[in-house]
Amino acid sequence: MKIFDTHCHLQSDNSAETTRELSDAKTANVVKLLNNSISFSDWGKVLRISEKHKEVLPALGIHPGFIDMSIKSIDTELAQCDLSKYKAVGEIGLDKKKSAIPIESQIEVFELFLKLSMELNIPCSVHCVSAFDELIACLKKFKNHPPVIIHSFSGSMELARSLSKFGCYFSVGRNLNNKRNNKQIEMLKYIFPSLMMLESDSSQSNKENKDIKSNKPCFIKDYMIIASELLNIPPESIADNTYKLSAGIFRN
Ligand SMILES: [Zn+2]
Repeated sequence: MKIFDTHCHLQSDNSAETTRELSDAKTANVVKLLNNSISFSDWGKVLRISEKHKEVLPALGIHPGFIDMSIKSIDTELAQCDLSKYKAVGEIGLDKKKSAIPIESQIEVFELFLKLSMELNIPCSVHCVSAFDELIACLKKFKNHPPVIIHSFSGSMELARSLSKFGCYFSVGRNLNNKRNNKQIEMLKYIFPSLMMLESDSSQSNKENKDIKSNKPCFIKDYMIIASELLNIPPESIADNTYKLSAGIFRN
């Protein structure tokens, strides 16, 4: 069994901690991971981690809750980067609930990175909270963008259907509610197998989710089992299908 973790955050400055987490992940059959940046300070870190650990794919982006640079400075920094080394753009997104950044500024940054993903022809890992209308408007504006993976998706089947028309895929994990909930099961049945991926959303620095207890890539196995119970499909089949889909989209 092979598992692809399509959304994690390995940004610890303690390389022994990263090595330990990746070894635990391997024991849990996690053989590929997409490591998302939260802010500019992560762009170099994710590359360094990928140089040492080939199973980790680097992604560059700025999380909508951590935008602390002007568009001009982002452009200047991007011009200095070897962008060909990144396998995805992420984490980027729009958040009208938890981010203190005005939505207009979030949209500007989101569109900049969406355009970058088009230039580089690499997918995007997207955080979206209470801003799906704004997200769809951006996706409509930039037609023919590469695949957009909505991470930690917990919307309805109807929302998944509308987003899928704009090239969206959905990654689920810690957000899955293990209580049987018909709306959630209906959504999962809609996205599995052609649109569903698995994620741990592990966060070493815990910058992103200060209120949530720490999470590791190896925990993805628990989320896979919850998905398997909700879908009534064997865990191996969840792992295989999500792995194949993710490996195709991330070309790895
Ligand atoms: Zn994240």
